Amino acid sequence: MSGAFTVSVRDLSRRAGSVRDVHLTIPAPDDLGSEVLRIEPGSPLDLDLTLHAVSDGILVTGPVSGKLVGECARCLDPIEDSLTVELGELYYHPDVRDRLVADGDEDAKEAPVVEGDDLDVETEVRDAVVLDLPFTPLCEPNCPGLCPVCGIHLRDAEEGHSHDVIDPRWAKLEGLDLGDGTARDGE
Ligand SMILES: [Zn+2]
Ligand SMILES: [Zn+2]
Repeated sequence: MSGAFTVSVRDLSRRAGSVRDVHLTIPAPDDLGSEVLRIEPGSPLDLDLTLHAVSDGILVTGPVSGKLVGECARCLDPIEDSLTVELGELYYHPDVRDRLVADGDEDAKEAPVVEGDDLDVETEVRDAVVLDLPFTPLCEPNCPGLCPVCGIHLRDAEEGHSHDVIDPRWAKLEGLDLGDGTARDGE
């Protein structure tokens, strides 16, 4: 196993209480996020992790950070931002997980395991990043969006920007002689 998200734990003692820091910088994969907001593909993704040996396995904690790109859901302006999420995941020793599963622990079935001298943290990093991304990314919290009539960015528009749009029901009445003008002329 030698994916980009592989963290070696070879130097970490199995003795509970052992701690080691690992710093990884890897090129972000293409699909870390959604079409509207994602880690910029190929940009450096920083993993600043601390590995803690515990009796059941290895606890991995620490920040994962990268560069976000996307577009505002209201005005379609490009968004550039940074993202930092905290990883916190226990990787079981395989024998420990097998025992938990045998004991009926349903959650343990889904839990990640230490694979030999390695941890593959890709799934956990993906989950942490995707869960942290907003469904509706905005260029700024109060982005007013675009004018629905002319498409101008309302942030750049004059105060109270509006259009004299005649309601189609009133437009029909325009040009109709409503009747009371001619009678008065005759007085
Ligand atoms: Zn916007
Ligand atoms: Zn307008």
